Amino acid sequence: MNCDFLIVGAGFAGSVLAERLNSIGKKVILIDKRDHTGGNCCDYYDSSGVLVHKYGPHYFRTNFQDVKEYLSKFTSWRKHEYRIRASINGLLYPLPINRDTLNNFFKINLRTEKEAKEFLNSKRSPIKNPKNAEEQVLAFAGREIYDAFFKNYTTKQWGIHPRELDASVTARIPIRTNTDDRYVNDLFQAMPEDGYSKVFENLLKNIEVILTADFKRVKHRIKFKTLLYTGPIDEFFDYKYGRLPYRSLRFRFETHNKEFYQDWSQINYPNDYKYTRIVEIKHATGQIIPNTTIVKEYPCEKGSPFYPIPNPDNQKIYLRYKRAAEKLNNVYFIGRLAQYRYLNMDQIVKEALDLFKTLKNKYQL
Ligand code: FAD
Ligand code: UDP
Repeated sequence: MNCDFLIVGAGFAGSVLAERLNSIGKKVILIDKRDHTGGNCCDYYDSSGVLVHKYGPHYFRTNFQDVKEYLSKFTSWRKHEYRIRASINGLLYPLPINRDTLNNFFKINLRTEKEAKEFLNSKRSPIKNPKNAEEQVLAFAGREIYDAFFKNYTTKQWGIHPRELDASVTARIPIRTNTDDRYVNDLFQAMPEDGYSKVFENLLKNIEVILTADFKRVKHRIKFKTLLYTGPIDEFFDYKYGRLPYRSLRFRFETHNKEFYQDWSQINYPNDYKYTRIVEIKHATGQIIPNTTIVKEYPCEKGSPFYPIPNPDNQKIYLRYKRAAEKLNNVYFIGRLAQYRYLNMDQIVKEALDLFKTLKNKYQL
């Protein structure tokens, strides 16, 4: 088999690059070791007819206009601003922390943003430059909020103490003084009208895709000029600088014979149970069907590498791999696993579109 570009991994990084390169007449082969395309964004209809997300909830959101425009060629959208709740001592609170969370949790009555700001100021720990995920919450919301909402959830999710994680991990979630209870602030928040797998089907219409094909196993059979690699970077180099740690998840799906199981698409359980959250994605997909499927997420060490673990030690290991990668000719590393970064879908699509431009210039395509 011959091609201009061999692309490893059929998630957003690999699929967007495949589509772009194919659109300018390049011969592309896209392989994935799984038996489906879409990477971690894969969804499917389960045996009860509910559209479920195979690897955890994927809410699309972006501030990148070019990403939205590009993806809109492959899907129409169902506008959806997702809202979740955190369960603390049996009561549900809006998350991100907002003025209603503060009022309900501390049993007070803050009426304005100014009052909420002053209240948060009175709670904050005096930390100027938070160095880790614990300090980040302490600096912006104080000890009580940290202990109730973040400490145990983060420990359960990552398997290490929040002090051992970069501040960027908890900084993903805003802390608000208004009553906005949307999970994120992005300008565009929506779900692909017909699901993610359909987006990938449309992206890959004209692409030669080989599934259940591990790079190491098939690379000798495919002749390529350039390699675009979206798998784990440490695996590519046979772990020569040691293993990069990843956090994994086990998903336990349950189908219930009622229209909805819970009032929110996601309820987080920081302090109870071995699972972190219960997701009922039907709230976000808008599917109309008399039954529902929920999923409980159990974080674990072994299994598919879902989350790169952001901290300085791991970054050091990653940088050694990155330097080794930079020495290779005609090999590019892109995506959540190849760049060992906790990136959202839109950031991945953005990076893939940018890499396409770089390749076009470099090879005068
Ligand atoms: P992936 O989707 O991981 O694709 C990489 C592909 O490479 C995989 O299919 C894998 O099988 C394949 N591969 C790896 N090694 C090899 C090999 N050796 N040979 C062949 N194939 C290989 N983002 C959001 O924007 N919103 C969300 O709500 C959101 N929720 C998330 C929830 C969870 C539980 C997780 C884990 C992630 C979530 N994300 C979310 C992030 C999102 O999944 C990623 O940004 C996106 O999937 C990354 O795309 P990718 O192409 O880099 O990687
Ligand atoms: N987090 C937390 N409590 C929560 C929700 C999130 O402590 O109820 C922390 C946790 O460390 C998590 C991080 O904030 O990993 C980012 O949360 P997000 O919801 O973005 O996680 P993801 O959906 O990517 O798993």
